[in-house]
Amino acid sequence: MRKILIVGAGQSGLQLALGLQSQGYEVTLMSNRTADEIRAGRVMSTQCMFHTALQHERDLGINFWESQAPRIEGLGVSVAAPDSTRAVDWVGKLDGYAQSVDQRVKMAGWMETFAQRGGQLVIHGAAVSDLDYFSRTYDLVLVSAGKGELVSMFGRDASRSPYSEPQRALAVAYVHGLGPRPEHPDYDAVRCNLVPGVGELFVMPTLTISGRADILFWEGVPGGPLDVFQGVKDPSEHLALTLELMEKYTPWEYARATKVELTDANGTLSGRYAPTVRNPVGRLPGGGLVLGVADVVVANDPITGQGSNSASKCAASYLSSIVERGDQPFDESWMRQTFDRYWDTAQHVTKWTNAMLGVPPEHVLGLIGAAGQLQPVADRFANGFNNPADFENFFYDPEKTAAYLASVTGA
Ligand SMILES: Cc1cc2nc3c(=O)[nH]c(=O)nc-3n(C[C@H](O)[C@H](O)[C@H](O)COP(=O)(O)OP(=O)(O)OC[C@H]3O[C@@H](n4cnc5c(N)ncnc54)[C@H](O)[C@@H]3O)c2cc1C
Repeated sequence: MRKILIVGAGQSGLQLALGLQSQGYEVTLMSNRTADEIRAGRVMSTQCMFHTALQHERDLGINFWESQAPRIEGLGVSVAAPDSTRAVDWVGKLDGYAQSVDQRVKMAGWMETFAQRGGQLVIHGAAVSDLDYFSRTYDLVLVSAGKGELVSMFGRDASRSPYSEPQRALAVAYVHGLGPRPEHPDYDAVRCNLVPGVGELFVMPTLTISGRADILFWEGVPGGPLDVFQGVKDPSEHLALTLELMEKYTPWEYARATKVELTDANGTLSGRYAPTVRNPVGRLPGGGLVLGVADVVVANDPITGQGSNSASKCAASYLSSIVERGDQPFDESWMRQTFDRYWDTAQHVTKWTNAMLGVPPEHVLGLIGAAGQLQPVADRFANGFNNPADFENFFYDPEKTAAYLASVTGA
């Protein structure tokens, strides 16, 4: 059977490794950390995944935590007014529920499953020189190493990357003890709180090492009042800062957070990166070719919570392309076609995410405001997180937005 090397054991690498393994491919997975190191390490994401991405996991039978993870049935948006009241506040219902399973739990578990099923797991931080060697012994080398150093093998695609600098400073805290949402306590929802000109606070339930928890996630405009986490090493100081900013900018979320404590000493994360689309094919010094996967080739800012969703969709799309290739060579033209097939979906995520990073135009403000009065608009916006391609129909173009709102009101 064909031999495939996958470098990087995150959402995309593991999902692809398990998928190929179940189809009989001889898969080697290279990870720079063991499952135990991942489990005992720092949180990596907020990893909220919507229906389509979760379905890809179900299709492979690797949805091991589905019954334990909170079911996120709605997505709420609040916009802060200058006096820190809520100028806008609504919740859209998701057609299919979303879930967040701490990547420490999921990646460690999937890695163990891969090894138990006979997969070859190599614990090694791969360098370009390693890949040069391996590209000669494998039919295909896939690089799914996230935003790590190996991305330097894949040139930046300037035409698809409007930003060359990070657009948000990120600060995450996993907590126990958060009170229920005041407005709809009967079901779980992601809460997106927009503070114009300052940044966004996302709050969502997750399944972590110690069971159910909630995540408090600030995205701050660089250089602004939320960009204060860099250099904060003490996790309790990180949490105190998170809460202080919530009290000031989103007091309605702070009101339910007064009793929270960190889930564990590794329950905080801060950082920033520039959203970047890359050339999908990397050429090794010895002439071999490697194909980039998920964040390696399309890394979006987490403002729209799409990276893990995209990683799942990329893994599913690449799996189909590999299987459909049969015994034919995985040459450069196949690699480009494989990426283009994924880009059909990914381009909508990149377009929408980059739009959300900018200052919203008047018609978008009107749309978000209208969702407060019109439940179908709130529902459609919420379900756009599952299928960002739908935003083409009512989000970017003022005329389409107006026509859509008129169709809902019957005007
Ligand atoms: C703060 C934050 C919040 C987020 N929230 C969400 C959200 O709510 N919803 C969502 O969908 N997405 C979210 N994302 C994005 C999401 O986490 C990523 O896009 C997703 O994990 C990417 O998956 P991946 O498989 O491409 O890479 P990763 O998950 O990054 O996996 C890459 C793996 O490769 C390993 N690796 C790196 N270099 C090497 C090497 N040289 N050799 C071997 N192994 C290597 C890494 O250690 C890692 O295990 C968020 C991201 C951040 C930072």
